[in-house]
Amino acid sequence: MSDVVLVLDAGSSSVKFGVFTVPASRDVELARLVHGRIEGIGVAPRFFAVAAGGERLAQHELANAVAHVDHQAALSHALEWLVPHLSGHRLAAVGHRIVHGGSLFAEPVRVTASVLSQLEALVPLAPLHQPHGIAGIRALAERLPDVPQIACFDTAFHRTQPAVAQLFGLPRELSGEGIRRYGFHGLSYQHIASQLPMYLGAHSDGRVIVAHLGNGASLCALRGRRSVASTMGFTALDGLLMGTRCGSLDPGVVLYLIDAKRMTTAQVAELLYERSGLLGVSGVSSDLRVLLASDKPAAARAIDLFVYRIVRELGSLVAALGGLDALVLTAGIGENSAIIRRRVCNEIGWLGLRLDPAANEANGPRISTADSPVSAWVIATNEELVIAHSVLDELSRQRTCMRSE
Ligand code: ADP
Repeated sequence: MSDVVLVLDAGSSSVKFGVFTVPASRDVELARLVHGRIEGIGVAPRFFAVAAGGERLAQHELANAVAHVDHQAALSHALEWLVPHLSGHRLAAVGHRIVHGGSLFAEPVRVTASVLSQLEALVPLAPLHQPHGIAGIRALAERLPDVPQIACFDTAFHRTQPAVAQLFGLPRELSGEGIRRYGFHGLSYQHIASQLPMYLGAHSDGRVIVAHLGNGASLCALRGRRSVASTMGFTALDGLLMGTRCGSLDPGVVLYLIDAKRMTTAQVAELLYERSGLLGVSGVSSDLRVLLASDKPAAARAIDLFVYRIVRELGSLVAALGGLDALVLTAGIGENSAIIRRRVCNEIGWLGLRLDPAANEANGPRISTADSPVSAWVIATNEELVIAHSVLDELSRQRTCMRSE
């Protein structure tokens, strides 16, 4: 019987899962046995599961099976399906993607009752996301109470940032309470940081900016493959224009919405998280592919703003780094859209980046010319793999502790 680890990533309306076999030695790469997702939680939930070879194992609507499908019910359903499909394997541990680790967690942590209450105390910092990760932990504990659970945080990678990069210009007692810049997409940046030596060789420890451009989008400045600054701050609203999120906004706008337009905080949150960004500016879609295919001027305007905001924020991270050696583009848009990569790279040509148009059309990996003083790369992200590796590290740490006791 071989050991497997389960990785769970509970987003706002979906839950993704992946099952990885635990390799006999650390030199063997992790292999994914099965993966799947539940989409449309709260609306019309659907369940999919796919085997390693791409064969579809399950695809069905959930609404008939479960009366009210919230995150915990959706996860319980996924586990009901998964457990019999793991026959012949032992579930050694589960890794969860948890959005917020606050200033407490700079590394993955095994979930105990006290860790769970610390995670709950962080809910006010990420009210729309943190509860879903916690629901995943609870669903697991209910169904499989003896399986160790490891929490992996989107904020943890950024805890290496200098203190000044984590501060807002607010009274110090508020920063003491935790109102500070945390940064997100840390699991994605951690994966890219681990891949840099393969692509950049000796330059991988230099001044690198990673652009994670998906539905959510942010930039991270790395030196020595550690985060020194990022565009996301206290919440995942800050920084770049995103699919439905506004990105950086004068806080005076929020005051105006509340005072002059008499909006409630729930209405403002819904506006800024769900109805802004590419969707709000275009009035067409939050999906970049749809906007690129549209002939509506507002769709073109939204794309212009998306690129403009990347270029502006990138400039600020170059200043924080004191220059730039390499730019890496990743996630749905970064990995797939040659048009956006071309526009961003051409706009920052002044920094010494020379795009290789053919390499860009071919999706890289290197998309700058051989003589470009600043190099540019397309590298695929893989947050699931980072979580699976963290789980293995935690398990082997625990084995070492038990042996030395
Ligand atoms: P999430 O943050 O939900 O994980 P993804 O990383 O999957 O998001 O990115 C989704 C975005 O990537 C969407 O805006 C989608 O249009 C865009 N995208 C995916 N493939 C392409 C492509 N070939 N060309 C342009 N945009 C693409």
